[in-house]
Amino acid sequence: MTATRTLSTAEIREKYLAFFESKGHFRLPSHSIISPDTTTLFTVAGMQPFKPQFLGAAARFPGHEGEHKRITTTQKCVRIDDIENVGRTNRHNSLFEMLGNFSFGDYFKREAITWAWELLTSSEWLALDSSKLYVTVYKDDDEAFGIWTKEVGLPEDHVLRFDADENFWPADAPLKGPNGPCGPCSEIYYDRGPAFGSDTWAEYADTRESNRFLEIWNLVFPQYDRRDLAPDGTPVLADLPFKNIDTGMGLHRVAAILQDVPDFYGIDVFKLLIDKVVELSGRAYEGATSVSHRVIADHVRMVSMSVADGITLSNTGRGYTVRKVLRRASRHAYLLGLREPVLYRLVALVAETMGSAFPEIKTHQAAVEAAIKAEETRFLATLESGTARLDTLLGKIERGGVLSGEDAFTLYDTYGFPLDLTREIAEEFGVTIDEAGFDKSLEAAQERARAGSKYGKSELFGAVSEVLDEVLAANGPTKFVGYEELSVEGRVLAIVQGAEALSRLSAGSEAQVVLDTTPFYAEGGGEVGDRGWIEWSGGRGFVRDTKKTPSGLHLHDVLVEEGELTVEASVRAVVAPERQATERHHTATHLLHAALRAVLGSGVRQAGSLVAPERLRFDFTHGAALSPQEIREVERLVNAWIVADFPVRYAYMNIDEARTSGATALFGEKYGDVVRVVSVEGGVGFEDGLVTSKELCGGAHVTRTGEIGAFVIVSDENVAAGVRRVEALCGEAATKYVRDTLENVSRVAATLNTGVAGLGERVSGLQGQIKDLGGQIAALKRQLAQAQMGGGASSSVRDLGGFKVASLRLSGVEGNELRSAADDLLDKSGADLAVIAGDKGLVVKASKTAVSRGAHAGQLIGKLAAAGGGKGGGRPDMAQAGVQDADAALGALENALS
Ligand code: ATP
Ligand code: MG
Repeated sequence: MTATRTLSTAEIREKYLAFFESKGHFRLPSHSIISPDTTTLFTVAGMQPFKPQFLGAAARFPGHEGEHKRITTTQKCVRIDDIENVGRTNRHNSLFEMLGNFSFGDYFKREAITWAWELLTSSEWLALDSSKLYVTVYKDDDEAFGIWTKEVGLPEDHVLRFDADENFWPADAPLKGPNGPCGPCSEIYYDRGPAFGSDTWAEYADTRESNRFLEIWNLVFPQYDRRDLAPDGTPVLADLPFKNIDTGMGLHRVAAILQDVPDFYGIDVFKLLIDKVVELSGRAYEGATSVSHRVIADHVRMVSMSVADGITLSNTGRGYTVRKVLRRASRHAYLLGLREPVLYRLVALVAETMGSAFPEIKTHQAAVEAAIKAEETRFLATLESGTARLDTLLGKIERGGVLSGEDAFTLYDTYGFPLDLTREIAEEFGVTIDEAGFDKSLEAAQERARAGSKYGKSELFGAVSEVLDEVLAANGPTKFVGYEELSVEGRVLAIVQGAEALSRLSAGSEAQVVLDTTPFYAEGGGEVGDRGWIEWSGGRGFVRDTKKTPSGLHLHDVLVEEGELTVEASVRAVVAPERQATERHHTATHLLHAALRAVLGSGVRQAGSLVAPERLRFDFTHGAALSPQEIREVERLVNAWIVADFPVRYAYMNIDEARTSGATALFGEKYGDVVRVVSVEGGVGFEDGLVTSKELCGGAHVTRTGEIGAFVIVSDENVAAGVRRVEALCGEAATKYVRDTLENVSRVAATLNTGVAGLGERVSGLQGQIKDLGGQIAALKRQLAQAQMGGGASSSVRDLGGFKVASLRLSGVEGNELRSAADDLLDKSGADLAVIAGDKGLVVKASKTAVSRGAHAGQLIGKLAAAGGGKGGGRPDMAQAGVQDADAALGALENALS
């Protein structure tokens, strides 16, 4: 040890962050343990919250002023894959802290490598013995190799080069994915000395597994965006617009080295937990039992932090993983002889050791303790009977035998034994489990659960019914007040993410939020879901979309921008002003429908619609394109309604009553007994009659037609046999469209030196001129070819391979003219073969007799084109090709024919 005093884990963390602050980095708090994207359930690396920045998004972060292209963080990470390793290897935790420094298009490899070296070895910072440091680089990364050996001065035999399975992040990304930012990486190792293993660094090239050489830090150089496979089957690594840096250092691995203990269970923060387990159980930390101490110390940190971040223990997804980890720890406590809940008593220590960097664990300590205690109590009750049951089952199976999948499932279903727990116990008996059989039983049970639920696995944002069923049973459907109000107070009833209910949602995270009352219209009847905001004391979230369950719960897709949203919170829900534009488009859709039926006939039937703030789209049955007169007439009728400024009213009535009143209903649509009817009070004149609008509709509408402002049809197209699609714009969108179109037309007219009125005549005049000019150019090219051929001096006739071959190089002649020049040449020269080259083209003609003697223009041109860097082919008597170098093609003639 070179350090004079042992650094605590907290001090090492602080040194890392302070070092990078001194290099111009901005310190951001850790992202939640809940993954910011859908590639993983949990956050697995420090870089994950910054994927958008690596892909080019602005380096701005909610709650922080300005732009920050250099960031440093300590990120709490969970790796479920590594759970199997916990307690077994000396370097894997289920929850660990990853320290990182990031550059978004700012500095790159040189700084990342030299700074890492400075932090690790400088006596001012971590003061590691530099002779014990080793690195690996990606096999092709000569740049990184050069910086390590030449600039840092690391001996070459301290560096190994590995493939993409080791030195790319994510591992093997080029071939296997996932998609997203990725790049080569360089890993830094520390030699823990012969006491940890007798292997050498050179041997590590083959073994790739060592207790002696411990990976502490990975420097990743994300310079590519991995995309889906290209059509030919190769993955695409597109260059990112700029180069980035992403590094990850395992805090506890470095702490174990600096505190000179064999593994991180010996470092300060873990020792407190291990000692507490010893105290609670009265069992010493030694021998085979010590695995239990380690598993408990590790797992309790993971579970505490997960619950603090809002994950609830459940039977699906993330909540199930956390429950599994807790039960595994609980069983190890049981193995240590503990029969009462104890794990919750370790939460205070987790808060004490992690609270300074992750204050959320302190804030929610009481809730975390309560959740863990409740789950421990539940599990202990079944553990005893479950273990007895399993012991009986296993007692009947010989060593080397198999436990049936059904039995394993019963243990899971009735006793709450996670499969890996059963597996672990079975292993102690030398028995394996029929896991395929287990999966089958599990699927069958899930199928039964789905069938029993009211609306099964909902398509709505993938949310699962169980949670929503409970909310519905307790509160009934969402109270929707958005026809009249655009801003109301509401209460948060549930936060749902994927298959799980969360108790909290932190900044940067997204989930579906259910409120008791809402002004947000949920997507339906062609109208898009509302967007807007929800605000609460200390926070704010963006509502990106709103959907609805068939049972009437509005699901707000909320991205928390600031603060933390909790269940039961009072919020103000505010619909974005763009709703007005949506309403304009919706009422206009009804008017358009009525106008189309008037103008085109009552055969017109609605076949679909989209009503958005930006535009409206209306599909309807009709056999032919609309004529300009029909479009003009439909548009006139709708604008007549707008100018008349009629009131728009809605009423609820019995479905039969609605039909007899003449309201238009959608064909094939299912309606309840009571329906909402939207009508415009007043008709507009058309061919001796009045056209009116009355439709069954649950959408949002303007209160008077005058609010629509203006209406313009922008397109009419065919979408399916007998179905037309009209798109139209209202209000500001309509006037803007008209203004843009007029400007375009005026600009074109001005370029052509005429006014808008004279534009048509001017354009057809120009078209005539272009046609004339084309004719003149063709004639000139013919003359040019003739002139070049004229004297015959430039053409040569040679005897090649038994044929008389005339060849000629022309310039400025291509295409048709080149072909007719070839005819002329064959004629005039009396040769068997005529070969003629333009600047980029080649034509070969063979006379009838030459063909009968075996000449083949197509085959000849193939060879010539190849010599000229092109491709071509054709019949025996005539062939043509495009070439890069016509002279080289002609030059190959002699070889090609001999
Ligand atoms: P290993 O091969 O040892 O599992 P890794 O290649 O998975 O490591 P990276 O994905 O590069 O590690 O993560 C960056 C750093 O995070 C590692 O250098 C290591 O210090 C730390 N780290 C990774 N996984 C764990 C874990 N399960 N527990 C503690 N620290 C870890
Ligand atoms: Mg790993």
